[in-house]
Amino acid sequence: MKALVYTGTMESEIRDVPEPVAGADDSIVDLACCGICGSDMHAWHGHDARRVPPLVLGHEAVGHVIAGPDKGKRVAINPLMTCGSCPACVVGATHLCPSRELIGMRVPGAFAEQVAIKTSNLTVLPDHLGFAQAALAEPLACAVHTVRLAMRSATKAPGESRLVVLGGGAIGLLCAQVARHFGYADLWIAEINPLRRDMLEKASGARAYDPLSETPDDKPVDIIIDAVGAAVTRKTASALVTPGGVIVHIGLQDNNDGLDARRITLQEIIFQGSYCYSEQDFADSLSLLADGVVTGEGWVEMRPLAEGAKSFVDIHEAAAPPKIILDTDL
Ligand SMILES: [Zn+2]
Ligand SMILES: [Zn+2]
Repeated sequence: MKALVYTGTMESEIRDVPEPVAGADDSIVDLACCGICGSDMHAWHGHDARRVPPLVLGHEAVGHVIAGPDKGKRVAINPLMTCGSCPACVVGATHLCPSRELIGMRVPGAFAEQVAIKTSNLTVLPDHLGFAQAALAEPLACAVHTVRLAMRSATKAPGESRLVVLGGGAIGLLCAQVARHFGYADLWIAEINPLRRDMLEKASGARAYDPLSETPDDKPVDIIIDAVGAAVTRKTASALVTPGGVIVHIGLQDNNDGLDARRITLQEIIFQGSYCYSEQDFADSLSLLADGVVTGEGWVEMRPLAEGAKSFVDIHEAAAPPKIILDTDL
């Protein structure tokens, strides 16, 4: 079968690869589409030691089951594989399983015609939910998880809080859409790309601002979601959040610097990491898509898998919308 293979730093190409073989409890999914994630970009830049080329990346995937109990059905893939029996898995915190694994990390991912995955990782889609929308389930689940973590730590009700998202990529935008749905009306997104700010306001209802020239400082910022995760955004978050406020860190651009541990200590700021999602977050994400609460309208572009290699370059050169979804239906 054909697949887009990450072949080395900043390189990928369409290659013929072996068809997946179903293990015990696996299904085979004939993929319809798969979104390009920031973490795929991170790997393509050669910054993820876990993703070693040659490797088929991609984990934001949907398709038809062609082998397995759900044969013939349209499904979304939860790409997070967990043991199911450790203390974290038993309480539903599957994303904290010590043996967690994603497709497209050490096992082949979904920028391909087919993928093998445990049947328990599949959710049958409602008929009215199109593949392109359903492919947002995985990044949206990350956003649902992130906003829930913020709400768990926050001391004020959503309607009385100001929430600022740093970074208007797909995750930042989805976090803003989810936050709005959960009742945060005083909502801001910091985005340095002027071409994106208009689109962000339309898609999320948040106020998009340029963090290089503006600060939302007329009122305290209760929650900051750092959807970039760079030294500069951690520095901004550390300075901007109100005493007793919450920073949720989901971006992973770089690992070091920026956090003001002294201010975090003296002002009792809560710093919370966010990684993936629970099974419940993933199920709720699909409901938000099925109910039309979150859509990719105005910020998602579909491209054929054949344009996958070029799409990575376009995203790298900031010549792409926040989300490109590759149509893998060859
Ligand atoms: Zn992702
Ligand atoms: Zn486990």
